[in-house]
Amino acid sequence: MQSLLSRMVDLVGSAHPRRRERLMQWLIAGYIYMGAAIWLIAGVLQGWMSKTAALLWLGFVFAGLLAGYVALRSGWTERFQDPSLTIWQLSIGVLCANWGYLLIGPMRTAALLPMVVTIVFGAFTLQWRQIAFLTVLNLFALVAAVTLRAWFPQWIPQHGAMTPLMVDINNVLMLLVVLPPLGFIVARLSSVRRKLHRQREALMQALSQVERLAVSDELTGIANRRSMRTLLERSAALSSREFAPFCVALIDIDHFKAINDELGHAGGDEVLREFARRATAMLRTTDAIGRWGGEEFVVLACGNVDGICRLLERMRRAVANCGTDSRCITFSAGVAQHRREETADDLLERADRALYEAKRAGRNRNAVAPEGDPSQRYATAESPQ
Ligand code: GH3
Ligand code: MG
Ligand code: MG
Repeated sequence: MQSLLSRMVDLVGSAHPRRRERLMQWLIAGYIYMGAAIWLIAGVLQGWMSKTAALLWLGFVFAGLLAGYVALRSGWTERFQDPSLTIWQLSIGVLCANWGYLLIGPMRTAALLPMVVTIVFGAFTLQWRQIAFLTVLNLFALVAAVTLRAWFPQWIPQHGAMTPLMVDINNVLMLLVVLPPLGFIVARLSSVRRKLHRQREALMQALSQVERLAVSDELTGIANRRSMRTLLERSAALSSREFAPFCVALIDIDHFKAINDELGHAGGDEVLREFARRATAMLRTTDAIGRWGGEEFVVLACGNVDGICRLLERMRRAVANCGTDSRCITFSAGVAQHRREETADDLLERADRALYEAKRAGRNRNAVAPEGDPSQRYATAESPQ
């Protein structure tokens, strides 16, 4: 039952939240038009206005409301900068209220209220120029209606006695006093609303940047130490539970100080960026790489030691010429396969010791941490390239 009702509401009001919000505003406007229609029908029943004139007004207004509903509900208006078409809706509202004023005879003072309310709708999106336009349009339309009533009564299909011109003049003066300050307040509200909207956008942007910086390395754009550590901890837990074997490799670029000396710090940074880009391109979808700090990187790969060593050789070939013309970039790597129940810290420590061995054995090679007893020898061999 509940879902049937909510499905019906979605069907009529759209499931799209912004579209539904626009239709809600349309519904409020429709409610005011509906009230005005009842007021007009009462005027006809009292004999104060012509039935044909009232039918013309009603036909125009309800055809306009229907067209507005279809345009908003179908999303057709979303191609415009303001999908609510606020200025159009409100201009038509102002003209319809003044049209009613012209027709309704002695009840016409009541038409001033919808005129005032129409301006209030501008607080949602309108700029102060558009609100000033609506205010002036309303005053002009009212003066035109009063002029027509006073000097061209034969043009108005009206019935019943004409009320004195002073009532109309009072009404114009009344709107002249009320509308400009109202327009000013509405314009202020609208500008505060737009400012809040802009601030919210800026805040969201800053937040997404902070989120990005929290997990990625600023220099290279790849994962940072913190997010790699989280990934390692999760992989270690998963591997202990499900026996999903994985390995880590701690990579340290060889003689990076000399690269910095040759290219300067900015040149060294560029080498690090290029190194990260090329190394990342070598990964399979289940592998991950992050910057561990300085010129050190950490690689995480599913599977056993042979798989990660093959990956490291591919990386060696890919990064070899990413530095200077005169220098071939090489790196040493300490590899360790996760043992069941081993913590991420212990695994990293074994990989670090293996890296030390790789450096000690002459660099440009991988050293694999012994699987069992740490006193076992490290397997190292210079890269074949
Ligand atoms: P090896 O590892 O082969 O023993 O020699 P190395 O020259 O690479 O020695 P070490 O690891 O001690 O030095 C790393 C150098 O990397 C020192 C530091 O100035 C430089 N470095 C660290 N972080 C950055 C960085 O973000 N940008 C640049 N350009 N250089 C960095
Ligand atoms: Mg280092
Ligand atoms: Mg180094």
